[in-house]
Formats: sequence, structure tokens, C-alpha cells
Amino acid sequence: MSPSRIAARVRRIKPSPSTSAADRANELRRQGKSIVNLVVGEPDFDTPVHIRQAAAAAMDKGQTRYTLMAGTVELREAIVAKLERENGLRYAMNEIIATSGAKSAIYSAFAITLEPGDEVIIPAPYWVSYPDMVLASDGTPVTLPCPEENGFKLTPAQLDAAITPKTRWLLINSPSNPTGASYTIDEYRALAKVLARHPQVLVMTDDIYEHIRFDGQRTPHLLQAAPELRERTLVVNGVSKTYAMTGWRIGYVAGPRDLVQALDTLLSQSTGNCCSISQAAAAAALNGEQGFVQQSVAIYKQRRDATLERINAIPGLSCRTPDGAFYLYINCAGLIGKTTPEGKPLTEDGDVVMYLLESVGVAVVAGTAYGLSPYFRLSIATSIEILEEGCTRIARAVAALR
Ligand code: PLP
Repeated sequence: MSPSRIAARVRRIKPSPSTSAADRANELRRQGKSIVNLVVGEPDFDTPVHIRQAAAAAMDKGQTRYTLMAGTVELREAIVAKLERENGLRYAMNEIIATSGAKSAIYSAFAITLEPGDEVIIPAPYWVSYPDMVLASDGTPVTLPCPEENGFKLTPAQLDAAITPKTRWLLINSPSNPTGASYTIDEYRALAKVLARHPQVLVMTDDIYEHIRFDGQRTPHLLQAAPELRERTLVVNGVSKTYAMTGWRIGYVAGPRDLVQALDTLLSQSTGNCCSISQAAAAAALNGEQGFVQQSVAIYKQRRDATLERINAIPGLSCRTPDGAFYLYINCAGLIGKTTPEGKPLTEDGDVVMYLLESVGVAVVAGTAYGLSPYFRLSIATSIEILEEGCTRIARAVAALR
């Protein structure tokens, strides 16, 4: 066989399973099938008007050129102010870098730090991209199953047992995609105690869903519980989910100077600065009035409550109440071992997901993609009518199983 033209580190990774699930649903829709798409991982709202206006104004003012690699002064000042105002975290301007989405921030952070074989601890269930990002930087993802009984959260004992001399990072995503689980200050303190014994371990916090919370609480931050971790923590966040700005591609990182400087160097030689117009929009989002955030969270909460009630009433399915984010991670253990009307046995969550798609046209993502089975992820970032229709169809499909 001729040697592949594609590098091994890229051959090791796979396309995002949620994108594949969305593609499959779209293909069936094109074939004329009625599909309820509950795969989407982005807000279904438009970006608020004042943010769009800020982008238009930036274009009119000629802000259409390269910016500083780390981001405009205006945007970085807005990020510094946001971190202090909302999280009580103080960063200098040169400890901040704006990136083309949180996704590129996380990928780049691995790229600047991982040597071949370095390990990254990823609590499962996890956002689908994390392990592949680690693999793409020649690292080794170490996924730790965090079962529902533990609230889908990493325990100190698990962390302690998983750390080796090769551990480079611990990755924390709170509230989590896909479970919505959020760590408390006390849970962070307990994890920080373990980290205190392992000074070589860096910590990345992916705070992208921080504002989408249903209990009226502010999402606590690891660094509030353990400020002593500041010099080895990278705070990753962005405007995509909070302000319905997924298409604008603005994320950011706050962290110790050496890591931020290395990110700056790598990005300056690869992507360059992120979009100047989007930077102006993101600054307006962070500095402007925050009414949209409360309004959209109230809508997500109504959807969460309505959908949870419907799902928990379906025999064989159950769902833990998520603290935040816009997904339900639904336990389908009660369906495993059943048989479809066509006589096909459901042996894993992938079978359940395929059955829901083919029998009633409901598209969701299998728990295998997130590293903890048997579950499937259902997105509530869609209208209540679509969610109601989805639940009705799921109930019908489940009732037809034998
Ligand atoms: N982190 C998590 C947990 C996500 O779910 C996503 C998007 O789905 C991202 C990061 C990426 O965010 P961005 O759009 O800023 O790249």
C-alpha cells in the first residue's frame, strides 16, 4: 500500500459526530422525510441588534484591516472588564488573547504545550472535539467516565488516580456539553487539593456555557475556589453561546503570560488575528446591556422543563436535570435489549439513535460520541413546538418496541 498523503496525527482524528448526525438528518430531509432535528449545538436566536449594529459601524469606520494578533485593545479591554466584573478574576491586557472561536483556542492551547504522548485528562461525557484535538497535537486523551450517580462530575479520587508523570492538562467544562452539569465551589476546592500535589498539571477551563444556567446562580469558577492555580490555568471562553454569535467566531483565552505569548506566536504564524468586524461586535456584546442573556436563558429554561417532563414520562428513558447549557443527556438503558417492530435488537445507544431517526425522523446524537453510554443528547436550542413534536415522536417510537 502506498504511504498515506495525510499525516498520522490527522488520520487518527474523525469528523465531529454531531456534524455527521446533522448531515444525516439533512440528507433524509432532502429525500422528503419529515425530520425533527434535535442535534443542533447553537442558539436558535439571532444575534442581538445592538451587537449587529456595532459590526456595521466598525465596517463603516474602516475597521476592516488586520488587528493586533492578540485582538484589538477595545476587545481585550472588554474581556478584562468582563472577567473582573463577572468572575472576580484579574488579568492584564497581555494575559489575554482573542481567537477565532473557543474551539481554536482549545486546539491551539494543546498545540503549544503537548509533546508526543503527553496525557490530557478529559472527564466523560465530554464535548466531542476534545479527544480529537488532543490527538491532533500528538497527545494522549485520558477519558475518565463520570457516571450519572456522581452528577456526571469528576471526583477527587478519580483525578488523583488518573494523574501520571505524563499528565499535562486537566480539562474542565462547566456547565458541560452534553450533560449541563456544573461544579460547585466546594467540588472545585476538593479537586484543587488534588492538583496541589501535582504542580506539573495545567488546567483548562472551558467556560463557554457559563451564562446558560437555570438555577439563577452565577457559575462558579475554579479560580475563585483555588486562586493559587492561576499561574497554571487557562481560562477559555467566548461569545458564541451566550450572545447567539456562533457564526462570528470569537473566543478568548486568559492565562499566564508564557502560555498566552506562545499562543500569540503560534496563531500569528497560522490563522493570524480573528475577524476585525467580529471583534468589534464581541466588544459590544461584552460591554453592552445584558438583557438578551436573561431573556434567552428564561426561554431555554421553559424548554428544558417542558422537555424533561415529557422525556421522564417515557418508560425506559430518564434524564437528570441539567444545571445549564442547552442539552438533555438522556439515559436510554431501559431501551437496550428491546427489539424494533422490524425485529432489530437495540444493543447500544447508537442503535437507539438510528431507530429514532429511521422510525420517527427524530435526530439526536448517540452517547458513544461523548464517551458515556447508553445515552443520547437532545438539544433544546430549538422551538418549544419542535421539542413537543420530537417528544411525541420519541414516545411513539419507544411504545412500538418489544
Ligand atoms: N466548548 C464547548 C463545550 C462547546 O460545546 C463548543 C461548541 O459547541 C465550543 C467550545 C466551541 O465554541 P466556539 O463556537 O466559540 O468555537
